[in-house]
Amino acid sequence: MPEILPPPTYVSPWMADEVADVVTLARTFFEREVTPNVERFAGQHQVDKETWLAAGAAGLLCISIPEEYGGGGGTFAHEAAVMWEQGRAADDAFGYSVHSSIVAHYLLNYGSEEQKQRWLPRMATGELVGAIAMTEPSTGSDLQRIRTTAKRDGDHYVINGSKTFITNSSHAGLVVIVARTGGEGAQGVSLIVAEVDGLEGFERGRVLQKIGQHGQDTRELSFTDMLVPVGNLLGDSEGQGFYQLMLQLPQERLAIAVGAVASAEKAVELAIAYSKEREAFGKPIGSFQTLRFTLAEVSTDVLAARTFLDYCIGLHVEGRLDAATASRAKYWTTDVQCDVIDRCLQVFGGYGYMLEYPIARMYAGARVQKIYGGTNEIMKELISRTL
Ligand SMILES: Cc1cc2nc3c(=O)[nH]c(=O)nc-3n(C[C@H](O)[C@H](O)[C@H](O)COP(=O)(O)OP(=O)(O)OC[C@H]3O[C@@H](n4cnc5c(N)ncnc54)[C@H](O)[C@@H]3O)c2cc1C
Repeated sequence: MPEILPPPTYVSPWMADEVADVVTLARTFFEREVTPNVERFAGQHQVDKETWLAAGAAGLLCISIPEEYGGGGGTFAHEAAVMWEQGRAADDAFGYSVHSSIVAHYLLNYGSEEQKQRWLPRMATGELVGAIAMTEPSTGSDLQRIRTTAKRDGDHYVINGSKTFITNSSHAGLVVIVARTGGEGAQGVSLIVAEVDGLEGFERGRVLQKIGQHGQDTRELSFTDMLVPVGNLLGDSEGQGFYQLMLQLPQERLAIAVGAVASAEKAVELAIAYSKEREAFGKPIGSFQTLRFTLAEVSTDVLAARTFLDYCIGLHVEGRLDAATASRAKYWTTDVQCDVIDRCLQVFGGYGYMLEYPIARMYAGARVQKIYGGTNEIMKELISRTL
């Protein structure tokens, strides 16, 4: 009988070559700048301004934006490497993905040359933090019904309305606002960029008390007769906002999937380690078959999720990831994440319920993954329309 060799440790194909260096760089960044501060960030409901500047100095921000705009000149794989390490570090305070993978790409894809030169270099250094304001108190999934208005008056838009659940709200100096420049429905929606620091009529609301992700600065934002130059419209004419959102959302959804799988994989590692050190009835808890079966199952779940994620990342780097496949990645990996972390938490017994244990924070932080970026029900709706 020929000898069957054990399979090598799985390495994602997109993590080859220089992306592997980004993995190392990002790991060092999270170890030094974020992990030691997790509890402090949770208490103050935001990371430090210096965290953004340190990420910029390390070359991690806007890593997939061309170098001519101050970025790293990489691809989504480089972006994914940073988000992967953030998930592995069990961090959910630093709003990296919204800033780098979402907001910077709205500017890159729809901004004029002048707009890109004006905003992207400062976003790459961390001097200017980005947020995207879509959701309103009365509508989230049904984005076509947003009520925030941007009425043209000479060289300015006069913006009125309010947004809620906005990530990076405390630090944001640049907000991409989804506003109504025209009539009802999708055709009336535009994206307008506001540089909000010191801007009259702009107000950051209270910090929202969430069940998890306590270090994340999620707040309401309101606009009262806020004047923004017409030159800050994204795109060459009004009414393109909904279309622009639809084109960018697959990348946002894939970014969520990256964090989901990384976090689930980390949870399994934590549970395996704990199962070897904790004893009950005179032996390690990992010797009980029921726990061993749990660990066998969740380790299989994360490997399956990772290979599916890798397939989607590969498609996206080639520019071939369609909206339905991105929706599959988002809904399924976040379901896996929540299920896997729940089962891993059980391995910790009562300690799994204590916030000083990362698994407890990961459990609370994971839940929203099924909600933001488009709820998992909306993902299934989008997929089913293509069948
Ligand atoms: C921590 C956090 C951070 C966030 N960050 C941001 C941000 O940075 N920027 C931003 O703009 N938004 C952000 N959001 C908002 C998020 O994207 C919305 O909460 C989400 O899109 C859902 O909208 P909603 O809360 O209004 O729920 P609703 O749209 O009211 O949905 C309620 C329920 O109805 C279901 N439902 C609705 N329509 C359908 C349908 N057609 N078919 C089946 N089911 C349906 C939903 O799936 C959900 O279960 C964030 C939210 C949270 C909690």
